[in-house]
Amino acid sequence: MLDAEERADLLLDAARRAARYVATAGERSVVPTEEAVAALAGLGPDLPDGPVPPAEVLDRLDRLGSPATIVTNQGRYLGFVTGGTDPAGHAAATLAGAWDQNAALPVMSPVAAHLDRLAARWTCELLGLPAGAVAAFCAGATVANLTGILAGRDALLHRLGWDVAERGLAGGPPLRVVTGAEAHTSVLKALRMAGIGRAAVTFVPTDGCGRVRPAAFPAVDDRTLVVLQAGNVDTGHSDPFAELLGRVREAGAWAHIDGAFGLWAAAAPDRRHLVAGVEEADSWATDGHKWLNAGYDSGIAVCARGEDLTRAFATDAAYLPSEDDRAPMHLSVQMSQRARGVEVWAVYASRGRRGIADLVEGCCRHAARLAVLLADGGAEVLAPVVLNQALVAFGDDATTDAVIAALQVEGTTWAGPTTWHGHRALRLSVSDAATTDDDVDRVAAAVVRCHRRAG
Ligand SMILES: *Cc1c(COP(=O)(O)O)cnc(C)c1O
Repeated sequence: MLDAEERADLLLDAARRAARYVATAGERSVVPTEEAVAALAGLGPDLPDGPVPPAEVLDRLDRLGSPATIVTNQGRYLGFVTGGTDPAGHAAATLAGAWDQNAALPVMSPVAAHLDRLAARWTCELLGLPAGAVAAFCAGATVANLTGILAGRDALLHRLGWDVAERGLAGGPPLRVVTGAEAHTSVLKALRMAGIGRAAVTFVPTDGCGRVRPAAFPAVDDRTLVVLQAGNVDTGHSDPFAELLGRVREAGAWAHIDGAFGLWAAAAPDRRHLVAGVEEADSWATDGHKWLNAGYDSGIAVCARGEDLTRAFATDAAYLPSEDDRAPMHLSVQMSQRARGVEVWAVYASRGRRGIADLVEGCCRHAARLAVLLADGGAEVLAPVVLNQALVAFGDDATTDAVIAALQVEGTTWAGPTTWHGHRALRLSVSDAATTDDDVDRVAAAVVRCHRRAG
């Protein structure tokens, strides 16, 4: 439909619009106006009968779509744990979009295979995971949790003499799961998808920071899948791996770590103690699209032994990965897949080891200072800030909810509510490399303003 020159113009137009969006993000309200959201109606409702020129589609998308975004990449969005936009990663993703490579098999893309291998190895290095560990890129930490849980399920059953690929699950040795009372919902979702129901799960009581209490941790055996957490979504605190993983290992159980964002503590020398001993586990899940600031749909599953991944995921039973011959489709759930390693490689290549450490450390410092400013302004800080999460409340639940509701429409920031140990709380997550001291000051001032008005 378009000739080569028109196609190039279209891409340049898209790049110009993207550049303008990013350049003006800092001046915009984090939340869109009601008018902007209402104007999305102009993108539908009917499927067009026939072709529309791509330039016109792009123009409409930018005019109506861009104003209706939540501006998550300008340093003041502190909702959920989302991360921002790494410049090198974003640029690489734009280029890789043009490449349109399928990373399923090395033969499908030399460049995707090469960067997938490098990014996987560098991930293990940065996180201090054991030599020989194999990382696989996937859609997010939910899928990475699923990947680790499936690998663990099949490995445990294999050791018990039960071949899941041949016999399925029915009639096999029942497995038990032990996890913290504050395990992320994605862990329960992954267990359900893995054929392990809630009745098989023992939830271990947690302490005032959301960590599993070692004294309450039950005896485990070679039929137990243990799922621990690096980074509680509310407080950022991690389970006591050093105290627990030795016991888990001796018993022949499998240990999987949900470290969607918290595992990145390992990449910063001054935070590494927060996840001490985490390298003793069998599998780990983390995200590229959260603290690493890569674009969405970027999770990373890591297994201490590659054969535990291929047992669960290789479609060719004889396949064993080597450093030179990694086939992503044999290491995780998907066959065809975006070359996610390209973007992650670009983030690492541009920041280097020290830059990744600074990204983590900087967010932690901002979170700590934010908590101090909020406490000075009358908020109650509900857990010591050790990582990138600050959790605060404002007296009673009704006041806390009123502060959050006001904050969410005020436009300086966006952050969400949680229920923490029975009480409503405001959860603030600093996980964008773009956040500055000035952003922290402005967010703190906005929260204090909303509190005054609500109180
Ligand atoms: C975000 C998160 C997940 C889920 O990750 P997705 O990338 O959204 O699938 C799992 N566990 C924890 C602790 C998280 O913070």
